[in-house]
Amino acid sequence: MVADNTPDSPNEQSDKMDVLKSTQTIVKIALEKLGYPEEVFELLKEPVRMMTVRIPVRMDDDSIKIFTGYRAQHNDAVGPTKGGVRFHPKVSEKEVKALSIWMSLKAGIVDLPYGGGKGGIVCDPREMSFRELEGLSRGYVRAISQIVGPTKDIPAPDVFTNPQIMAWMMDEYSRIDEFNNPGFITGKPIVLGGSHGRESATAKGVTICIDEAVKKKGIKVKGARVVIQGFGNAGSFLAKFLHDSGAKVVGISDAYGGLYDPDGLDIDYLLDRRDSFGTVTKLFNNTITNEELLELKCDILVPAAVENQITEKNANKINASIIVEAANGPTTLEATKILSDRDILLVPDVLASAGGVTVSYFEWVQNNQGFYWSEEEIEDKLHKVMTKGFNSVYHTAETRRVDMRLAAYMVGVRKMAEAARFRGWI
Ligand code: NAD
Repeated sequence: MVADNTPDSPNEQSDKMDVLKSTQTIVKIALEKLGYPEEVFELLKEPVRMMTVRIPVRMDDDSIKIFTGYRAQHNDAVGPTKGGVRFHPKVSEKEVKALSIWMSLKAGIVDLPYGGGKGGIVCDPREMSFRELEGLSRGYVRAISQIVGPTKDIPAPDVFTNPQIMAWMMDEYSRIDEFNNPGFITGKPIVLGGSHGRESATAKGVTICIDEAVKKKGIKVKGARVVIQGFGNAGSFLAKFLHDSGAKVVGISDAYGGLYDPDGLDIDYLLDRRDSFGTVTKLFNNTITNEELLELKCDILVPAAVENQITEKNANKINASIIVEAANGPTTLEATKILSDRDILLVPDVLASAGGVTVSYFEWVQNNQGFYWSEEEIEDKLHKVMTKGFNSVYHTAETRRVDMRLAAYMVGVRKMAEAARFRGWI
């Protein structure tokens, strides 16, 4: 066959980077593989509910700024929808929709009684004061209060949101609801009904997937060379866990660049110097670019930052045996195919990053029952859930002869499609 070297048109390029389109493509293939009729895809290709809100906030200079926010509820056939709220200048309606679909898939893979939801506000919290952020968080909850709640849709943290923001949101919702309602949101501080282990849950879940993936590849975590893109909540806890297990973390990065040391970086020192937005590389002169970082020779590569980092442009230059996606959507579909052809084991985002929503579920259960579990109990339960999720995806990949991403989508959509069928929707 003659290779087609014609460069993509700008439209084709942007389609490949369109996270909603690529998610829909693979949901469709997964449903076809499972034998579901076209109308199931028609139902699941978009959120059942999507709200756009405009939030006025009084800024510190006394001006009023209007922010745009979104809340997407993908599908509530299985149970209430659940998913984080992202504060970022690049938040878009399409991204929030795709993220809500991914949340449905995650809940399906780790078998939680939820559908997927997601929210976002177009803003740059790095340039806002504490008081302005509080106004924005409370304004968002007032704007979406009619469609959210502990039995409807339960928000949580995501990029650039944290336990303090969850606390303001919970307080605002409780005021509207006129009683204390901790089950409205997860990722809260422990004193407000947060769960032990929630802050590090995503990284713990990724670690559990890495433990399972290395077994399949005959590698050991102890002594493995690891590269992590992103040093925020997911990336920094993960670097710490892997460093403590004896792995050599040779590369890390943030939005401003990467750090590389072939003998292993001093992770405890970097954690100490990191700011609350996951920035650390600005303090060093000898940095590498994020592009160079992704191509470093290593055993395990973990994208833990943003979308579309591994594309058909760099997939052939990736020098890792295993890729575990802590971030949502870091690899395009074209790159997934290239990596799979190169026999690189790719543990997809919808499986690898499901630890966060799993412990969020534990937090919600504890709030509902008013009885709280210890850190050890949470870790034990998380371990069982993630291992089972990993093995069911791996088993599907092996038996159906598909890559891990398609297998994860097949496992993830099945419960939702069945629930919709039993309800008589399709
Ligand atoms: P965070 O805001 O705490 O950290 C993000 C990190 O990525 C920071 O170090 C930032 O500097 C870096 N970054 C931002 N833009 C970058 C770029 N263009 N190139 C390289 N680095 C860049 O966010 P987080 O909570 O750690 O989330 C990271 C990813 O993991 C996101 O895709 C998120 O959706 C996903 N995720 C997070 C959770 C969670 O519980 N935190 C759960 C599931 C999935």
